[in-house]
Amino acid sequence: MELTSPADQTVVYLNGSYMPLSEARIPVLDRGFIFGDGVYEVIPVYSRRAFRLEGHLQRLDDSLAGIRLPNPHTREEWTDIIRELARRSAYEDQSMYLQVTRGVAKRDHAFPKNVTPTVFLMTGPLSMPSPEAISQGVAAITVPDNRWLRCDLKTIALLPNVLLRQVAVDAGAVEAVLLRDGVLTEGAASNIFVVKDGVVLCPPKSNLILPGITYDVLLELVQAHGMPCEVRDVSEAEVRSAQEVWLTSSTREVLAITKLDGKPVGEGKPGPAFRKMYGLFQELKAQARRAPEPKVHA
Ligand code: PMP
Repeated sequence: MELTSPADQTVVYLNGSYMPLSEARIPVLDRGFIFGDGVYEVIPVYSRRAFRLEGHLQRLDDSLAGIRLPNPHTREEWTDIIRELARRSAYEDQSMYLQVTRGVAKRDHAFPKNVTPTVFLMTGPLSMPSPEAISQGVAAITVPDNRWLRCDLKTIALLPNVLLRQVAVDAGAVEAVLLRDGVLTEGAASNIFVVKDGVVLCPPKSNLILPGITYDVLLELVQAHGMPCEVRDVSEAEVRSAQEVWLTSSTREVLAITKLDGKPVGEGKPGPAFRKMYGLFQELKAQARRAPEPKVHA
């Protein structure tokens, strides 16, 4: 493998040890590999500080509880592992991936007894959206949401999301906006906000969407700056007649969707509410970079 390949720039934590990605190995009977039996997190790291770490660790707790897998680490242990991995990376800004599976056992659907979970983290450079994506917005298509009914759990069993995202990519778009029973749920790998008649609309948290950490940040910013906002079901008709549509995620922050199913959203360029939110988000990031240490409470 060439030294300059991205894989060699990725540092890894696996079951208690730090190592280069190329040295990390797991047995093929790991239930993550066999069943997709595990959960994950993606945490953005700015200036080696994990952004919104508390929120990510809380969601990890919730996902683990949702699949009935005891959390193998305390908050303090997770914080130490994440800080140490961030310190070992060559990059100031990182995208940190964390995964816990139910461990290695003879293949049988039922939970194995006395098995140690597999804990895997990797961190590499954070690739931000391009300046063009920020200034021009991106294209998305709508797709029926055919996933299961526990989309609130961040499980590694992502095949439905993979297939939905590929439908979008095949159509020359960057994201699939998912609709279930005539109502907006989320994106294949993002949450979706809509601006309609000057009001920011966003779907409420439920079993049908992932409770995004960036979704929380956006809602906090919207509310702190007195923008009219309603957290409620958003109909397909409202999505299609919106002045603005945004997507949010930890690695894409907030982006304007300016083309939906080939038609311009609003005026076909990022709108004023998006530009305000984008600016506020950048300010928040700049503050996070100056923070002394990520604070975590048990
Ligand atoms: N929904 C789905 C289905 C996702 O995969 C993601 C990204 N992980 C999100 C929403 C956004 O979540 P976050 O802001 O925590 O990255």
